[in-house]
This record gives sequence, C-alpha cells and structure tokens, in this order.
Amino acid sequence: MGKGVTILLQARLAGKQRFELIQTEKPVPGPGEALIKVAVAGICGTDLHAFHDSHPFITLPVVPGHEFSGVVEALGNGVPEGRLAPGDKVCVEPSLVCGQCFHCREGRYNICEELKVIGCQTDGAFGEYIAVPWEKVIPLDDKMPFEDAAMLEPLAVAVHAVKKGLTSAGKRVLVIGGGVIGLLLAQAAKAAGAVVAVADILEYRLQVARTLGIPHTIHTATRSLKDAIHAIHPDGMDIIYECVGLPSTVRQSVEIARKGSRIVIVGVVNDDVLLPVNLIQDRELELIGDLMYTKEDFADALALVNSNKVQLQPLKTKAFTIDKVQQAFEYLDDNKDKAFKVFITIASE
Ligand SMILES: [Zn+2]
Ligand SMILES: [Zn+2]
Repeated sequence: MGKGVTILLQARLAGKQRFELIQTEKPVPGPGEALIKVAVAGICGTDLHAFHDSHPFITLPVVPGHEFSGVVEALGNGVPEGRLAPGDKVCVEPSLVCGQCFHCREGRYNICEELKVIGCQTDGAFGEYIAVPWEKVIPLDDKMPFEDAAMLEPLAVAVHAVKKGLTSAGKRVLVIGGGVIGLLLAQAAKAAGAVVAVADILEYRLQVARTLGIPHTIHTATRSLKDAIHAIHPDGMDIIYECVGLPSTVRQSVEIARKGSRIVIVGVVNDDVLLPVNLIQDRELELIGDLMYTKEDFADALALVNSNKVQLQPLKTKAFTIDKVQQAFEYLDDNKDKAFKVFITIASE
C-alpha cells in the first residue's frame, strides 16, 4: 500500500480500554487494491474483547473495524475492467488469505493457514479510508443503507453456520444465545425452512426474537432448557447452535443434545472446556466447529436481506460518530444486557 499526503482520521485502540484519535496519511490503493471511503463500521463482540485486551488473537495497538460499508473512491492498477468503479456503494469481506495453502486450494479459505482479519490482525475500518484487495469488495445497490451493508458481515457468519450445521427445511434447530449472531442465525435457519427455538437468559433478547418471527423462545433464567425442548417436540432438536462461547453453555449444549444430533460451536470460547466425551460417543453426537465465511455466504446474506427473509432493523441499537468511539465501547460495556449492534459512523450518507 502506497502513501499519499492528505491527512485522515483514524480511531486506534492504543491499549486496554483506550482509544486514540490519530491522524495519518490517506492510503493510495496499491496494485489490485480498492480505496474505500468508509461510511459505517459495526462493533462486534470481537472488538469488545480487543477493547479489554482479552482476545487471544489480537495484539494492541490496532485500528478495529471488520464489519463495514462505504464507497469506492479509487482503484489501483490491475483491477479488472468493469468489476468495480469509483462511486460504488460496497461492503467488504474482511478476511485476508494466502490463496496457496491446502484450505485455500480447496475453496475453504475461511480456515486459511495464514488467515488475517482486517480490523483484528491488520488495521481496520475505524478510519476515513481503507485500501483492500479488490476481490474482497462486494458492490451493493445504491439504495441499501450503509448500516445494513455493514451488517452483511455478521449475517454471512450466520449463513455459513446454517450451512455447516446442514440446517434445512423441517429440521428442528435450537440457538443458544440471542445476541446479534444468534438472532441473525435464527432468522437464517428459519429462512432455510427450519423450526427454530432461541434460548437466552435475558428476556429482552427473546422479545426481539419474537418480533423477528422466531416461533419458540426459551427463557433459561426461569425454565429448564431440557423441559422447554421437550415441550417443543418430544423428539428433541436436530441441530444445536452454541452462540454464547462460555464453557458452561458449550457443555450444556452437549448435555441436552438428543441422540444422533449435531452441535455447532459458533461462539468464540476463550477457556478450556471440560466436555462429557462419553455422551458424544454413546449418543453419536456430532460436534462441529465453525469459522467466518466465504464470499458465497455474503451473496446469500445479501439475498436474505433483499428478500426480507432476514430483518436487520430490530438489531440496530445505536450509532456513535467516530470521535465518540471511546464512549461507544463504554456504552456497550455498560449495556451488555440490552444492546445489540452499535455502529461507528465515519461519514454520513
Ligand atoms: Zn464480527
Ligand atoms: Zn491459505
């Protein structure tokens, strides 16, 4: 990436719970790169972990921002004709991959050996401009709001998980954890024709789940998960999605799984978990990992939004301008039990 001369604003996470607004040179798009004028970036659970310097794969300082949208401003040399043009409204698939390793060659570049995520292992979109490989840029309709466009990234996570779990029409699906990913996943599973239940300890999240048309909600603070599942169907759930990432909920998902069912770990688990492997063996359970997405998942995510099968509006909580980035993270810290997606606005529509 070359450097220009114009000064631009970036919000850099300099240390634990400490953002700095810095000025740096506006990037010039290198060969094969697109320069994006960033409009909106979402704050994700990963960013909150980084804010507390508690993410195992993020080292500070870093400029966060991996869920973002904006407008193409310029293209570097070597971007194929007709694929992107200045002025295009876009979002970006933030995974940087090697293209050479076994997984990249097999098309599963979401688990590339050299995987780097923009905003996690390289500087991200909490700034006025970012240059990214043109292949990672996804052109969108001009009418799509920037906040919706920024939410295609977490929705792609949900779409990928639906595929990893082999969720299809008629399957009974339980989503444990009704945060942003959980409720996007619940909607994507419903769109695939599954019968979906969401379980959460917080009633507020379940209210939103019902607004989104999720037929079954289970308030685990007041009700046994096992009993509630039995009440939905005596044969239990075909697929369980763990979207919390706590050792207790990972273990619980194995304990409540009916024989022969599939458990997909979507939540990021920071600790070792003691699992009843005897149950996995004896009940022929399938325990499956899940990471990120490929570009096809973004296309499917976009189709779900365009066909109104997934609603984003009820999951938008608040937006802060980039100069208030510190307050945005403190707000999220203080409102974990009622906030869904919080956005950083970098440029207005
Ligand atoms: Zn994220
Ligand atoms: Zn690779």
